[in-house]
Amino acid sequence: MRATPFYCPFCGEETIEPVGDAAEMYCSSCDRRFEIAFKGLGDPQ
Ligand SMILES: [Zn+2]
Repeated sequence: MRATPFYCPFCGEETIEPVGDAAEMYCSSCDRRFEIAFKGLGDPQ
């Protein structure tokens, strides 16, 4: 299961691109690398 984010969660720009074949993304505006992770369904405990 994979979802592509459209905006950087840190600076809000759309200048993000995937890194390699993992879930890692890179934002060229704020120079951050990050990863989006699915944590499951339902309300958090
Ligand atoms: Zn950014």
